[in-house]
Formats: sequence, structure tokens, C-alpha cells
Amino acid sequence: MSIHPDVRARGRRFIMTRQRQSILEALEASTDHPDALTLCGRAQRLDPSISISTIYRTLNTFVAMGLVVRHDFEAGKGARFEIARESGHHDHLIDVASGEVVEFHDERLEALTREIAERLGYKLTNRKLQLFGAPNKMAPE
Ligand SMILES: [Zn+2]
Repeated sequence: MSIHPDVRARGRRFIMTRQRQSILEALEASTDHPDALTLCGRAQRLDPSISISTIYRTLNTFVAMGLVVRHDFEAGKGARFEIARESGHHDHLIDVASGEVVEFHDERLEALTREIAERLGYKLTNRKLQLFGAPNKMAPE
């Protein structure tokens, strides 16, 4: 997972305090989509002076800057965060049993959603697709 160069450049112009850098590093190192509290624990391992309010404030700033993407996967549950990535669009499947977030990419879905937008008279600029599922007891072959 690599951060988009434009985003990194934008990040450089922004005053990157040690705390902010640690929060960004902790999120970059995350392979899941942590919520603010989980990220706080990880960032505190890099800088114990980071508080949960610093996490919330910094995440809001990073989201506004386009450095970080915020997801509200499930109503009533905390938002989850990930680094804005250089590589193409991906979608998410949320495991309703464990809360685990599985990323996937499917070109057929890309083409289909573009086609639907065009049929409705639009050029697709963005989309959000979230699948929710329970683990299938039968393992895939
Ligand atoms: Zn993701």
C-alpha cells in the first residue's frame, strides 16, 4: 500500500508535527481499516503523548486534505479509516460476524457501474459499494 504522491506532496506543505506523522505512520502500517480508538492505540506505540482527541482532530484534518479516507460502514458504529491510495478504486465487504473489512476489486463492477451511470445520462465520478456478509460455512473451492 503506497500513499499517492500528490497526497504526499500536499502532506509536506501541511505542518507535519511529530504527532501527526506518528498517526499517519500508524495508519499507513495498518492492513485493516481501524476505527479512531484502535488507531489511537497503534499511534501511541509510536508516540505515547497522542490522545484520543488528537486522533479525532488529526483524522478530520487528514480527511479534509484527502490524505485519509473515512468509511461509515455500519450505522451506530465508529467510522473506520484508511490511507488514500495511489492504486485504483477498491470496494469493501464487511464481515457481519467479525466486523472484519475485506477489500476487493472487480473490473466487471467498474464497467457495470460506468455503464449504469452513462445510461442515466451521467459520467461516473465516484462510487461507494459496500457488501455485507456472513462467512460461508462451505469453504470456497
Ligand atoms: Zn479499503
